[in-house]
Amino acid sequence: MADTTVDLRSDTVTQPTPAMREAMMAAPLGDDVLGDDPTVIELQNACADLFGKDAACFVPSGSMANQAAIRVQTVPGDEILAHEYSHIYQYESGGPAAISGCTFAFFRGDRGMFTAEEVDAAIRPDDHHFPRSRLLVVENTHNKGGGAVWPIEQLEAVTTAARGHGLKCHLDGARLWNACAASGIEPAQWASHFDTVSACFSKGLGAPAGSIVVGDHETIRHVHRIRKMLGGAMRQSGFLAAAALHGINHHRDRLTEDHERARRLAEGIAECPGASLDVSSVETNIVYFDVPGRVAADVQSELDAMGVRMLWTGPSRMRAVVSLAVDDAGIDQAIEALHACLGAAAPA
Ligand SMILES: *Cc1c(COP(=O)(O)O)cnc(C)c1O
Repeated sequence: MADTTVDLRSDTVTQPTPAMREAMMAAPLGDDVLGDDPTVIELQNACADLFGKDAACFVPSGSMANQAAIRVQTVPGDEILAHEYSHIYQYESGGPAAISGCTFAFFRGDRGMFTAEEVDAAIRPDDHHFPRSRLLVVENTHNKGGGAVWPIEQLEAVTTAARGHGLKCHLDGARLWNACAASGIEPAQWASHFDTVSACFSKGLGAPAGSIVVGDHETIRHVHRIRKMLGGAMRQSGFLAAAALHGINHHRDRLTEDHERARRLAEGIAECPGASLDVSSVETNIVYFDVPGRVAADVQSELDAMGVRMLWTGPSRMRAVVSLAVDDAGIDQAIEALHACLGAAAPA
């Protein structure tokens, strides 16, 4: 039916724009393992400034950013406090156990969030029977939580509670750029509540790869060592750093367009009799919806055949993510395909 494909599987499918490719080709290069790639240095300095921290380390992926931050702030046997849906636990191949020897205490709140009272209640007594409560991890926006943006007061409350018990705090800010665009709150304001922050360039900002970890001098020195240990130290990575700089400088403001399109997609889906979705849950670029009575994997295949790519994430749950890979016509095509696929209400 359709001769173009609309790719809503993730915002990671974005390809470098022509201007980004030009910036990459023009980047001055060095050898970053020897510490002299000028474009990587520029990116790291820019990120330290943007997040209001001492220093930054450029790494190949968001997973490495998170895992290095965890590794440098824990010792084996420590317990990490995080939401049960957090990316660091669900989607990073067991990294906290394998790389850092850590266990988890989970929060179970709505949309990936939790409260200061729950943090207080999760802290282990200082007794040799227990793992040591050591690191709080907050995710913003929350991926599996539907792209939810934390209210900054709540985020301040949970980190203040954690610090009160001597914990370190890490922000998984893979999509912090979306939280900034949706709330008007600057990266440094979010970051001020954390010891370390990770952020991705390869999602909404449209770079081909790369993430950053920011923190104080000592911590980031240690992150550099862990990056090398994990095999993430790269040579002429200025190519990638140039793409990241281009994304930071030119693609942050346009994220609100993705959010508007996600909202329009959600409204279109909500009108399908065979779909169930609360439009008010769509705060950024991620749209989750249910297809009651249908097998989500089948819905995915049917949509695929109509040139609309989404992912099923549960037996009858689907996810669509809007990015610069999707324009207004793509949203129209997706809504039309969904109506064709889910137009009829589920049999009672
Ligand atoms: C995408 C993502 C990451 C990192 O993923 P990579 O594929 O390793 O770059 C980390 N945290 C969250 C919340 C994410 O959505």
